[in-house]
Parts: sequence; C-alpha cells; structure tokens
Amino acid sequence: MSDIQFCKRCLYPTTHPLGLTLDDEGICSGCRVHEEKDSLDWPTRWTKLEDLVEPYRDKSGKNYDCIVPVTGSQDSYYIVYLVKEKLGLNPLLVTYNKYFNTPLGIKNLANLRIRFNCDILYQNVNPVSVKNIVRTTLRKLGSIYWPILAGQTVFPVQTAVRYKVPLIIWGAHQGLEQVGMFSHEHEVEMTRRYRKDHDLMGYEVDDLLSIFDTLNEEDVWQYRYPDDRDLNDIGVRGIYLGNYVRWDPKAQHEQMTKCYDYQTSEFPRTFDCYDYVDCFNYMGLHDLLKLYKHGYSKVTDHASREIRFGRLTREQGLALVREHEQKSIKYLEQFCDWLGVVPRAL
Ligand SMILES: [Zn+2]
Repeated sequence: MSDIQFCKRCLYPTTHPLGLTLDDEGICSGCRVHEEKDSLDWPTRWTKLEDLVEPYRDKSGKNYDCIVPVTGSQDSYYIVYLVKEKLGLNPLLVTYNKYFNTPLGIKNLANLRIRFNCDILYQNVNPVSVKNIVRTTLRKLGSIYWPILAGQTVFPVQTAVRYKVPLIIWGAHQGLEQVGMFSHEHEVEMTRRYRKDHDLMGYEVDDLLSIFDTLNEEDVWQYRYPDDRDLNDIGVRGIYLGNYVRWDPKAQHEQMTKCYDYQTSEFPRTFDCYDYVDCFNYMGLHDLLKLYKHGYSKVTDHASREIRFGRLTREQGLALVREHEQKSIKYLEQFCDWLGVVPRAL
C-alpha cells in the first residue's frame, strides 16, 4: 500500500477506481483537464451544441425531440433547464425508481416536471427482482448501487429505441470530471462500452447471471442494453452537456434552488448539501462501502471538486474530509430489513 500517491493539488489518490495519473509536477489528470474549464471558448462550444441538436427537432409535432434521464437530485434540474429553456427542445423525461427515495427526492422530482412542464416516464422494476440483484452485487461487487446505476443508464436507452427518439441528453460524465480520462474536446458520447466500463464496474447484467444461479432471466432482462441493430436502426446517440457547457455543479445547484425551488438537505458525511438528496442510502451505506473499497468517500469527491474550482484550499478540503469521513451512517437497519439480511452479515 505504500506506493499510493496523492495529487498535489486535489485530494485524489492514484488508486482512484476510474484510473488517474500524475504528471511530472505531481498534478493529476483530473486537475489538468479541469484547467480546460478556464481555457476553452465556451460560447463557441455552446454554438456547437446548438448545431448538434438541431437535426433532432421533431418536425411532425407527434414525437419528442430528445430523452432526458432525471432523478430528484443531482444535476437533473440544470440539465432540463438547459434542454428546455436554453436549447428550446421538447424532452421526454425518464426516471428509474431507485427504491431508496427520500420524501425530499420525490418532491423535487414532482416539482421538476411541473415547473418545466414536461412529460415523464417512470420505470418501476418489481421489488423481488431488484432485491435479488442487490443481494448479488453486494456479495460479488460490494455494491448496493449497481442495479440503480444499471437501471438509470439503461432505461433511457431502451426508451429511445421504443419511442424512436434517437437523441439522449446526459449531464456531465465522471470519467472527465473526476479523473480527466478525456478532454472536453474529445466530445465523448455515452455508449454500451462506456456504461459497462465506468458506470457498471465492468459487469453487464448477463455477467451476474452466469456467475450466480440465484438470479433468473426474469430478474435481469430489464437491465439489458438494447441490441446494436436496434440502436443503429434508430440512430441512438447519447451526448454529455458537460462537453459543451462549463460544468460547475455547486453554482448550478444554487441557481436552480433560487430560480426553480430545487430543495437541498444536509448530510453528516459530507459538506455538500446538493447531491443525492433523493436517496436514503447513497450518502449512507453506499458511501461507507465506497470508503471501505477505495479508501476515500464522497466527501473527497466534493472537496476535490471545490479545490479545483478554487473555492477551497487543499488544507481546507483535507480538514472537511477529516471532519466528515468517519461519521456514522443512518438507515442501515431499514436497508437490511428491506433486503431481508441481518446487519452483521455486512
Ligand atoms: Zn488532482
């Protein structure tokens, strides 16, 4: 473990699960790509985005212009704001029920569709199948969130195929934002491969099926990515707004709170009160598992982001990590009750 190194600017270790490199000056790839936020010509990039979406406007008046995946937190408000108010598109919002919904998240999601006056589709996978997959991924990957990530990243793509709406518009992607895996100028798009490698820890749902006999076809089929033939027939593509807009979650959340009544919540395990307010477990058990597996938790993500934006010094960020990282978690008992396991088995 002695060869773990840390970026001299932010707080990330070289063991970051998305992969991160340090340059000669000891600065990480994530910090270097972040510098682009202050050097790129963002008005020109916005024009590029406008040109990109233009051909996807539905001329018939009988279909949507694009699909936008949303939740009751994170960047959803800002994404819909850009798509509807700034690009003037008519989106179909889609949301996957994560099962760990807080009342605040439910309220935020309802307010989102009402304030922006959008149609929305909800997907609820049955609880028995969801629990079967959570048990499997908890045991195999140490993750309670895999099915949620799988559902959130596949339902929009399935909907694009079913509704024949080829353009899917996502927010930012963590491979760029956290570790600088790509430049903004690479204009990376969401694909089957990107989802498997970065969102799903290298596992498709069929990989779980082949390892464990506790899962059946009826549990997993809703998490399967559409066939290439169907994707190609419709011309499905998923773009990230973060490649075309100077992405700044804190500033965006503050704007959405002020203008559209996005509501926030405090968490013991981090100082950011904007992310994941819709979930009982993301900043709880999921965050603790992240600390166990990777040696750091969400507060390090938040602090590193704020250091890069120059709103915290490295010392202030480190102090916030030390203050929050070891805070105890809530709702473990409720989660275990729901899953049907005893807490000590964790
Ligand atoms: Zn860094």
